[in-house]
Amino acid sequence: TVDSYLPAATQPFRGITPVSQGHRANATFVFLCRNSDISGVVASIQSMEDRFNKKYNYPWVFLNDEPFTEEFKQCRLDGTAKLRLSKTPNLISNVRMPPISFGLIPSEHWVQPDWIDEDRARRGRLQMTSQRIIYGGTRGISGAAYLVSGSSDHGFSLGSVPYRNMCRFNSGFFFKHELLQPYRYYWRVEPSVKFFCDIKYDPFLYMQEHDKVYSFTISLEEHEPTVPTLWASVKEFMAQYPQFIEPHNSMDFLSNDGGNKYNMCHYWSNFEIADMDFWRGEAYTKFFDFLEAKGGFYYERWGDAPVHSIAASLFARPDQIHFFRDIGYRHENFQHCPSGAQWSVGRCACDPNDSFDYTDHSCLRRFEALFQ
Ligand code: GDP
Ligand code: MN
Repeated sequence: TVDSYLPAATQPFRGITPVSQGHRANATFVFLCRNSDISGVVASIQSMEDRFNKKYNYPWVFLNDEPFTEEFKQCRLDGTAKLRLSKTPNLISNVRMPPISFGLIPSEHWVQPDWIDEDRARRGRLQMTSQRIIYGGTRGISGAAYLVSGSSDHGFSLGSVPYRNMCRFNSGFFFKHELLQPYRYYWRVEPSVKFFCDIKYDPFLYMQEHDKVYSFTISLEEHEPTVPTLWASVKEFMAQYPQFIEPHNSMDFLSNDGGNKYNMCHYWSNFEIADMDFWRGEAYTKFFDFLEAKGGFYYERWGDAPVHSIAASLFARPDQIHFFRDIGYRHENFQHCPSGAQWSVGRCACDPNDSFDYTDHSCLRRFEALFQ
């Protein structure tokens, strides 16, 4: 078996510190992906297990709009067939198997609803792809030229229906999935991301013990053409439901003029550790339903990142939003790399000088200014 290739010290149940059973959060990883994402999925899991979860054994929940194949579940990869999700318990965390479950997304949580005017939606998609050509013919659009080299293919996503389904699902539905009902906190993971540093404490417990509802490692500006009327809808919501707006909110993160105009700042939602009870609560439920009724997930391309960020900024206090400065993280094309003592303690495999934090299109300064 694969175990026999491991050095003795890493053999299961030998020389491994037992996982503390007592003090745990009610939490899980959540991984939305396609069967075809398998190699990036394995890479992300390996990174997370190595750097954090081998000691904590939090469960993994995989979600897909199509049934996961047996191949995906057993993770038979030609080159790296060594890591199997369901057949070789020892390898996923080297000690024992974290619970893993695979879920199918109900179609009403995924596909474009019938009441969406498909002609209007199609015009929106075409307009968005042609705008991209007018604004330079590359993936970067309007002011967001810094995204030009994006391997995440924002160009493609501008005209894509599945991408819109994904953004809407991540905005309003993932936390309603039956496999996530038992849990309060989640950590969102995507294919081919990297966790650069050892995480020597439990970030879920940190969230719980410090009354945090949302967290991030990278914040940046959204491409304006994907959300032309989002802010008008937000303002309408605020006028209609003032009771949901936290008096001590982070409007100054979202707006440079006290709320008149949206400055496009948002937390990059491919990394999220957050409290699902916040999304399940009355304020966010009303907010999502309100946005959903506007049709902007399909007529435009409202992303789950600005939607989550706006909600966290308006319905929670700034001190309930946490910047995980010590968690080194990369999702193409940007990364956050800790520096100084955090870099050493975490044995971070990244260049502290290569960090999005204080670059031109980062919104981190704006977040930090909330506390000054
Ligand atoms: P980007 O990070 O904005 O470029 O978007 P991604 O392509 O990484 O998609 C975000 C997440 O949703 C990733 O975890 C993808 O695996 C997942 N995803 C995107 N589109 C689909 C889809 O059509 N079906 C499924 N099941 N997952 C998807
Ligand atoms: Mn991604």
